[in-house]
Amino acid sequence: MLRGSAVIDSHVHLDRREFEGAGPAVAARARAAGVTGFLNVGYDLASSRASLALAAGAPDIWAAVGVHPHDARLLADQDGRLHAEGRALLAELGRLAADPRVVAIGEIGLDFYRDLSPRPAQRAALAAQLELAAAAGKPVVFHVRDAWPEIMSFLDACGLPPRRGVLHAFSGDEAAVDWALDHGLRLGIGGMVTYRQSTLPAMVVRAGIDHLLLETDAPWLPPVPHRGERNEPARLPLVLDKVAGILQMDPGDVEQRTDAGFAALFRERQAGPP
Ligand SMILES: [Zn+2]
Repeated sequence: MLRGSAVIDSHVHLDRREFEGAGPAVAARARAAGVTGFLNVGYDLASSRASLALAAGAPDIWAAVGVHPHDARLLADQDGRLHAEGRALLAELGRLAADPRVVAIGEIGLDFYRDLSPRPAQRAALAAQLELAAAAGKPVVFHVRDAWPEIMSFLDACGLPPRRGVLHAFSGDEAAVDWALDHGLRLGIGGMVTYRQSTLPAMVVRAGIDHLLLETDAPWLPPVPHRGERNEPARLPLVLDKVAGILQMDPGDVEQRTDAGFAALFRERQAGPP
């Protein structure tokens, strides 16, 4: 128990093998540390199904379904064409996305750091899943790494789904912050904000509290002083306290404003037709 906080982890992977099937126990530890909600994010079909299963079993867990840019080859070939298996997978994601416990499409995006799928396949997978988000009337959880100029020009060209989304594990610069805010996107801030060399504190100030969501990305990206360990959502209060320090705000106010941002993005239906 770090402190008396009550804050939502907007990006976690309780189903990952690093947790050795102990996701429910990991969630219980986080609740004891003041975490009041979890968005469990998929990255392929199995993890999307696992996310929905977790969400179906706990009222404070919600799910996102999607194919990560690392796995874009599951949807498209190296020339950027959707293949038959990819179309079938997209149809299945569409069925999962219709469940009310699924509150977002993600994590989807571009990752030119590891380039685990060919870039044309990444772009095609992203475009197809943006269409899915628009059709399902859900916001997007974006994963972007070493592809900030590309994601900005890509989304400017093809347009964002009406419900917008969050740039999870935000790592962009000032231009990316300004672009995100102009496009109604929020920034997901996690353990990286605690790292000594991080430029994120300046981005947090630039964006302002009402455009931020807090996340752990557990089992990855543990905050200081837990670097090198498996991360847990119970560590989210360390991120909360760091952001409060950067913004010179009361941690309770940070929690309230970021939870309101989570609710506005993922839980409130837009007025008008879906
Ligand atoms: Zn993730």
